[in-house]
Amino acid sequence: MRELRMKSKGLLLVVSGPSGAGKGTICKALIEKNPNVVLSVSATTRAPRNGEIEGVSYYFKSEQQFKEMIANDELLEWAAFCSNYYGTPKKYVEKMLQEGKDVILEIDVQGALKVRSKYPEGIYIFILPPSMEELKSRITNRGTESQEVINERLNTARLEFTHINKYNYIIINDRLEDAVKDLEAIIIAEKCRIERSQEIIKEVCNI
Ligand code: 5GP
Repeated sequence: MRELRMKSKGLLLVVSGPSGAGKGTICKALIEKNPNVVLSVSATTRAPRNGEIEGVSYYFKSEQQFKEMIANDELLEWAAFCSNYYGTPKKYVEKMLQEGKDVILEIDVQGALKVRSKYPEGIYIFILPPSMEELKSRITNRGTESQEVINERLNTARLEFTHINKYNYIIINDRLEDAVKDLEAIIIAEKCRIERSQEIIKEVCNI
């Protein structure tokens, strides 16, 4: 992707979608190809899964530590999701946006709605699986959750779908490459919006 409008503030991209829809894989693939895009690392009270790395996958916290982060106003938003807390550390996001980086928050619907009230200029994207059957088989094949947790996550997905019209874009993750291309296309189009191009217009058109 071309590095457009480097001088302006970065884009805030909020990506939601059910567990197993492939949000993480899509965002990771996008970031590998685009050095101007960074991913915010969340804090959570959830236990690490096999292979997850502290400070890369999440900042793993105790409930006490998480509550202290809330009390110290360190979080841009936070939410309880399937019996655990998740939150976005504020400092990193604000710093990256100021530096002109595009920042992805990969967060649940409750968190996204909170962010939207603070950042209406953000871009809200919902990732869907091609079908609920496919979603179920992806979560099951991941093999990281018990049947009880899988069911809880599928029920949460159905609840999250009721908020889908509050997002700006939908990406269907049937083929990873296509989903990544869709996300790139959204970023490019958003950077070309007239509202985000005022500085360039002034410079080029001298008006
Ligand atoms: P998981 O346990 O599968 O890593 O994440 C569960 C859900 O929590 C996913 O929908 C994920 O996007 C969401 N999530 C991860 N980090 C955050 C965060 O900082 N804030 C909020 N509100 N949700 C988050």
